[in-house]
Amino acid sequence: MKIEKNSAVTFRYKLSDVTGKVLDGSTEPMAYLHGGYGNLFPKVEQALEGKVAGYQATLELSVQDAFGERDESLAQVIPKSDFPPGVKVGGQLQALGPDGHARMFTVMKIKGQSVMLDGNHPLAGKALRFSVSVTDVRAATDEEIAHGHVHGAHGHHH
Ligand code: ZN
Repeated sequence: MKIEKNSAVTFRYKLSDVTGKVLDGSTEPMAYLHGGYGNLFPKVEQALEGKVAGYQATLELSVQDAFGERDESLAQVIPKSDFPPGVKVGGQLQALGPDGHARMFTVMKIKGQSVMLDGNHPLAGKALRFSVSVTDVRAATDEEIAHGHVHGAHGHHH
C-alpha cells in the first residue's frame, strides 16, 4: 500500500552532514505515523507521501528543514557552584530556557568556576542529508491515530 495520512511506516535511516559524515542512524528499523504528527521532518514526510515499501531516497535538508538555526540566547554561562557535584563535559541536564520552559542543556565546557551550557539541539545550525529506506507500510490502528504515534515492535512502547 502507498504511504498516506495515517499510514504506519517502518523505515531505516541515516543522517549525515553535507560532507557525508554520518551523525546518526538506526541499526533497528523504526516506525512512525505519517500525516503531520510531528514524528519526522516535514520535508521527509513530503518525500515519502505516496511511496511504497522498498522506496529509498537521500534528501538534502536545509538548516530550516532540519533542526533550525542556532539560538545564541540558549548558550549560557552558569557558576559551577549552582551544579550538583560531578558535572561533566558532554553531560545533559534540564533547566529553564529564556522562554521559561524546561529544556535540555548540554555541558559544553568547564572553565575554572564557570560552566558553559548550550540548550540548542546538537545539530541546530547544520544542513543535513537524510537517507531513508522504507521497509513496511500498513494502515495505523485507531489507537495509534489517537495517540499520534505507532505501537508495536518498532514503535512506541508503553
Ligand atoms: Zn501510544
